[in-house]
Amino acid sequence: GSRLALVEQLVVDVADWPRPGITFKDITPLLASPGGFSAAVTEMVAAAPRDVDVVVGTEARGFLFAAPVALALGAGFVPVRKPGKLPRATLDQAYDLEYGQETLSVHADAVAAGARVLLVDDVLATGGTVLAAADLLGRLGAQVVGVSVVLELGSLPGRQRLEDAGLQVSALVR
Ligand code: 5GP
Repeated sequence: GSRLALVEQLVVDVADWPRPGITFKDITPLLASPGGFSAAVTEMVAAAPRDVDVVVGTEARGFLFAAPVALALGAGFVPVRKPGKLPRATLDQAYDLEYGQETLSVHADAVAAGARVLLVDDVLATGGTVLAAADLLGRLGAQVVGVSVVLELGSLPGRQRLEDAGLQVSALVR
């Protein structure tokens, strides 16, 4: 519909950033547009599975969409962060990047066993970030009932990797 068209228009391609040959999808124009930001959140809420207890956002841009989606769903918000940021006991999960490794971290008591979790991020590329976050939530005994992103890069195997792991993926724009 027109809301999704607006979201698509407000994500801007930036050539050769952060490195030559990479085209970065910049979501800051979407955030800066009251109608666009609201349209993105409304569509993510509409696509959410039933009875979500917790919305998990991944640092940092995932937070920006996960928090308003959590409020709209009447769910809690839990951050998955880069290592060394959370003050109490954590579970950590390393995952591979194109070059090197990254680690994600969540408070060990952040999500109750059995909780129904919606994972939210801005962009799905290779799927590594979402898979690492889903692994952390699995180790907490939570049930990841959906993954919601603003934008999916269709040229990369992110969706296939997530679906192979049994995750249901919703993207506003592909
Ligand atoms: P993946 O782990 O799926 O390869 O990459 C997705 C993660 O990297 C997300 O957390 C996302 O914020 C970030 N990311 C990768 N590529 C882009 C991009 O082109 N634009 C934005 N905004 N984020 C990206």
